[in-house]
Amino acid sequence: MLGRRVVLIGFILSVIVAVPHAGAGELTVSSAFEGGSAEVLEIDQTTRSIKIRPAGDPQFGWPCWWYFQVTGIQPGEAITVTVDASQMKQANGQKLSSNWALPERAAFSVDQKHWRQTPAGVKDPGTFQWTVKVDAAQAWFAWGPPFVPADAKQLVDRLSREHANVTAFELCKTRAGRAVPALVVSESGDKNDSRMVIWVQARQHAWESGGSWVGRGFIEWAVSEDPQAMALRKKADIYFVPIMDVDNVATGNGGKNQVPHDHNRDWSETPRWNSVKTAMRSIKEFDEQKRLVLFVDLHNPGSNSKRPFFYVTPPELATKKRKQLQGAFIAACRHEMKVPLELDQNTPSTGPKYDQRWKEISSNWVRSATREHVVGITLETCWNTRYSNPAGYMTVGRQLGLGIARYLKTDPRSSSAPD
Ligand SMILES: [Zn+2]
Repeated sequence: MLGRRVVLIGFILSVIVAVPHAGAGELTVSSAFEGGSAEVLEIDQTTRSIKIRPAGDPQFGWPCWWYFQVTGIQPGEAITVTVDASQMKQANGQKLSSNWALPERAAFSVDQKHWRQTPAGVKDPGTFQWTVKVDAAQAWFAWGPPFVPADAKQLVDRLSREHANVTAFELCKTRAGRAVPALVVSESGDKNDSRMVIWVQARQHAWESGGSWVGRGFIEWAVSEDPQAMALRKKADIYFVPIMDVDNVATGNGGKNQVPHDHNRDWSETPRWNSVKTAMRSIKEFDEQKRLVLFVDLHNPGSNSKRPFFYVTPPELATKKRKQLQGAFIAACRHEMKVPLELDQNTPSTGPKYDQRWKEISSNWVRSATREHVVGITLETCWNTRYSNPAGYMTVGRQLGLGIARYLKTDPRSSSAPD
């Protein structure tokens, strides 16, 4: 009798231990939405833990991006998420370092709009594990704060609704037929005037979502009532493309090094990608009108970078004047980019040793195809820090805007500019 009671108590205890979250639902993982990517390896309903691996197809770029939804959460419970990136491969079959997919702090949200960072996770070879207390029945987890084509469309539409001088437009349709949203800020009513033109774009590499957030911070500042922004708008038209590789962002693929080459190796005589082709045509036209002064391409770098930095012109494309203007632009940005992310002193370049298709990198094409007074440059904003979240990225974008305004106090086309 006593034995049976012990067994019974043991049974009750084991039920309590096995189901620590009475009332908690069954955890379910989905990535069937715009930008989603995850292959579920394991869901442990008892320990409330989920293990996935990024599900991108290497043909469509480095498969380091991941983004998924979890439902069935008991509000208040802790969920453990593990990402296994040990098996990542590039399109040519070579291994891709797991570092690309594993931030120390992942992005998470309970409404798919406001993105926070998880506490720092725990690293194991090839994997990272984060534990988060979730105060909602569902949550979304991602490599970094997602910014998908719907966000790009919403941003350009909202700004054109709210500001009389902003016009949203479609840059082009992608090869898969998706729209590429863009906008122009212009206070000129006259298409034939000689105002300066600035071109800022993000996401030639689909997985680098931070670039779009930096871009959003930049453009929201550019249309604001900040006196520096107002002064800039008086003399310059500003073009902004939040996502260049819309197809790979929409399908949750990485884009970088896709087959046959990615958007940022496509700035050639025969561009393959429609957004590149259209951007090149516009940029060339503005340059022929002697209006283009600045081209900025926004990216995220490798996992070890802890500060934003610029890729500058390689010696092969540097002229005295280009180098001077580039130096003046970087100095102006350095004045603004201090807190929380300080602009790195280091300014590497993307010459022949960097990549075989170095001439087809967008900023290098700008440096070789436009007038000498044009600065073409790439800004890499670090993604693996505690400030690599929407607020931090948008601050870098605002500071980029302030740097641009500071730099353009003197018209680089005029004779008083450095030469
Ligand atoms: Zn990139």
